[in-house]
Amino acid sequence: MKFDQKKILRDESRVCTTSSAGALRVAVGYPNTYFVAMSSLAFQWVVELTASLEDIGVERFFTDPPLLGRTLENGSHLGDFDVVAWTCSFELDAPNILSTLDAAGIPRRWEERDYTHPIVVVGGAVASINPLPLSPAVDVFVLGSAELLWPDFLEIVRSEPDTERVLETLADMDGFLVPRFHLDRHGVPLGKRRRVEKRDAHMDDPAMVPGSHVVTPHTEYSGRGLVEMSRGCPEKCRYCWVSYNYGRLRSYATDGIMDRVERLQAITRRIGFVATAVGDHPELGNILEECSRRGLEVALSSLRIPAMQREILEPLAASGARSVTIAPETGTDTLRRALNKPISNDAILKAVDTAQECGIENIKMYFIIGLPGETDDDLRGIADLLRNAQKIMVAHGRERGRVGTLLAGFNVLVPKPYTPYSRKAMVSRREARRRMEIVEAATSDISNLRIDRPAYRQAQWQAFLSRGDVSVFDVLEDAASGKSLGRLLAAHRTAIEASTLSPVEGPPVWQFVVSAPVNRTLSGGLSPGGDSEPSSAPPLPGLQ
Ligand code: SF4
Repeated sequence: MKFDQKKILRDESRVCTTSSAGALRVAVGYPNTYFVAMSSLAFQWVVELTASLEDIGVERFFTDPPLLGRTLENGSHLGDFDVVAWTCSFELDAPNILSTLDAAGIPRRWEERDYTHPIVVVGGAVASINPLPLSPAVDVFVLGSAELLWPDFLEIVRSEPDTERVLETLADMDGFLVPRFHLDRHGVPLGKRRRVEKRDAHMDDPAMVPGSHVVTPHTEYSGRGLVEMSRGCPEKCRYCWVSYNYGRLRSYATDGIMDRVERLQAITRRIGFVATAVGDHPELGNILEECSRRGLEVALSSLRIPAMQREILEPLAASGARSVTIAPETGTDTLRRALNKPISNDAILKAVDTAQECGIENIKMYFIIGLPGETDDDLRGIADLLRNAQKIMVAHGRERGRVGTLLAGFNVLVPKPYTPYSRKAMVSRREARRRMEIVEAATSDISNLRIDRPAYRQAQWQAFLSRGDVSVFDVLEDAASGKSLGRLLAAHRTAIEASTLSPVEGPPVWQFVVSAPVNRTLSGGLSPGGDSEPSSAPPLPGLQ
């Protein structure tokens, strides 16, 4: 569909206004289309934080072709702003940062820019996972929670006209990585490690509960306002970057969450609660009941299986939810235990049964193939699990008069920095295909099952970007020139296969970024849902 700037703006409903006028002009972007970006609570939250500061003008930008390099609000050229900042949640979007700089006429490398150019900033998960591949392009990486760092950053830029001094100041502060000071001319980290700032004091403040300020029909969560419920996760699944970087579970107080819901109610009846462990909020059942009482239609991001209890699912169904997403990851209890996810197939099937009893008809299950130690029996176990889930759904469907749909989505393991699997090799494409063939042969007798096959090339590209050093920038530049992923992987096959299909030997390049511990417990409002494990909070809030 053709991108119509005027219609996009006209169709937006807002709970607060933003202004493009201010002594400091800041452009906040997401390295993908409007449709994708506006589903990101992290992006929306950074825009709102910027707009809330005195005398700072903010405009948004995306990658939709007619406006590449310019803002949505006024079509302003990015090169005219003081600061151009991206929230980047996915490695696959990184080349779009370079193509946006090109379109804006801003030199790609910080070495080629001067005080006449905007300060180029990247925050979000990609900055904290591994900033090295993008480091030649970026003046400042924001490593940590936006609430902690972004207002300080903007205050420093506003009060100090000399860009060089701004960067020097930031280079001395935790939570910022300034490549020109923290990396040598070959892109190798210098001096002490950079710390990701993840304290959570702001979580006591009801005004600091991230929630959408714009609701639009032109996004995946069409017409839905999003509210963040918690940060962190009580589990530590071995493949999960979130669990090793976002830290122990800390929930926002119910009052703050309901304030956000109230704010959104003025413009929509559709609410989405998001978090890495949304089902673990200690008052989720009460929150859902209250939303149902208000006639709101509610959706949740994926639930941890232990959270799929009647107290949660009944009010969720009453709020209009007809599907839930769960992540068994693999088919046998033995391999699941090895992933540090000690949930049995029986518990998963019980969760499916409870969802069906509560009237939630459709089930999505997500699996990972290529896990360390995975055997063909584990793969056939996936088929057994799906078959048994389908039997439960058919039994409930008979009573109801229709059977819900069962979707099985597959991903290939991407070994992520900071996880116990960070040094592992990925399985090859051929091996991934062989493993999927086993799953598909074993599930061929299951009716009404939809299988989403893994996108191997995307997974390999993601692994390459997340574990790479500064030399990856050359490949990113090639990607930014518009080369398809297939041609890109073929052109750089040797480097990409060496990086992804072999285990990492020696000290990993990314390890100079470390997480600040979270060592306090929330005191305000209702009780937190977290354990006492010292850990960390997410770099920026957002959907899973
Ligand atoms: S995979 Fe899910 S349950 Fe496991 S640690 Fe990550 S967020 Fe938590």
